[in-house]
Amino acid sequence: MIVGVVKETFPGERRVALVPDHLPPLKKKGFEAIVESGAGADAGFLDAAYEAKGAKVLPTRKDVFEQADIIVQVRSYGANPEHGGSDLELMKKDQIVIGAAEPLSSPALVAELAKAGVHSFGLEIIPRTTRAQAMDILSSMATVAGYKAVLWAAERLPKFFPMFMTAAGTVAPAKIFIVGAGVAGLQAIATAKRLGAVVSAYDVRPAVKEEVESLGGKFVEMELETAEGEGGYAKEMDEDFYRRQREMMLKVVAENDVVITTAAVPGKKAPILVTEEMVKGMAPGSVIVDLAAERGGNCELTKVDEVVEAHGVTILGPSNVPATLPYHASQMYSKNIFNFLSNMLTKDKEKRFDLEQEDDIIEATWLTKGGEVINESVKELLAKQGGQD
Ligand code: NAD
Repeated sequence: MIVGVVKETFPGERRVALVPDHLPPLKKKGFEAIVESGAGADAGFLDAAYEAKGAKVLPTRKDVFEQADIIVQVRSYGANPEHGGSDLELMKKDQIVIGAAEPLSSPALVAELAKAGVHSFGLEIIPRTTRAQAMDILSSMATVAGYKAVLWAAERLPKFFPMFMTAAGTVAPAKIFIVGAGVAGLQAIATAKRLGAVVSAYDVRPAVKEEVESLGGKFVEMELETAEGEGGYAKEMDEDFYRRQREMMLKVVAENDVVITTAAVPGKKAPILVTEEMVKGMAPGSVIVDLAAERGGNCELTKVDEVVEAHGVTILGPSNVPATLPYHASQMYSKNIFNFLSNMLTKDKEKRFDLEQEDDIIEATWLTKGGEVINESVKELLAKQGGQD
């Protein structure tokens, strides 16, 4: 099978879907790589590096689409609505297209992929099972986001993170509060601890307490019912719950120099957990990094991709955070892709490429086939919107 790597076209996207180091192991499994010239340049992977690892570099995107059996992307059409559409005319019938596709928020674009006749796969809806973890782009990219959020906060805060005892006096460590201790939140805790801050965290899922403590953070207890939903995710709560949560968080937020919010419920708008009143209660110079900004934001004052200064507090609402650390984000994404492709080989001795084999990961992520949308959740969404046409 020939795997084609194309340059990302989403504005500001600097990642690449496959890095040179993963090409030799892919070759061993029967996958040859072709690469659009310049595809990895923004992430630090030059054409020569791909060639050195056995890839053929082709001058245009069209060449890659023409020759590849499988196209791998960081953002395929659904996750790149403004620019991804121009790839539709380059796609071949039965070509396999793998990448983030935001199928549950862009179902109409999935229907367009179906019309292009391709087998498209949306990596965000991979099952959250132990076996799928090595292919889980949400996990790997959340790791990048949690790390980066702490660095941004440290850079903006007019204070040190660690405690210092110097001849010029003793400096108390910064206090950081993390709201939502999923993958990004846990990485934020670990990073803030490494920088020497005093870290506390809260999550609605009870299982998280132990994880927070194992990273050296303090779990903030709140008298709220727990809210574990399906697949280890949080479930959506009613407005009364969020109101009580905000009341309990008011004092905690005021006591901290930095608040990093990552709270999300899959398929829903992120809950507002930090109100303007809470921002007012923070000391001047405090920083909020709202990693839920793209999903509506956890802070009432967040503006996506803007730096908001309000009541002496700086509020950052960055989007597409993994693209700001493109080298390692690409390396992790590429490993997810490598594992995803490897999983498409049969599990017997033959190791044939076979999409039709019985496999829950292939089944869950497969969006379009034979001109139709085949994913049940996307089909339901399309039906609600008035059909596929
Ligand atoms: P996410 O991005 O959907 O949400 C981030 C966090 O916000 C979650 O921990 C959630 O519980 C929390 N949250 C939601 N509402 C909140 C509220 N009102 N207040 C405080 N916190 C709130 O989640 P995620 O980081 O992608 O992962 C969530 C879970 O899935 C974790 O348990 C993680 O370990 C698990 N997971 C499993 C796999 C796997 O097994 N393959 C892969 C990735 C993640």
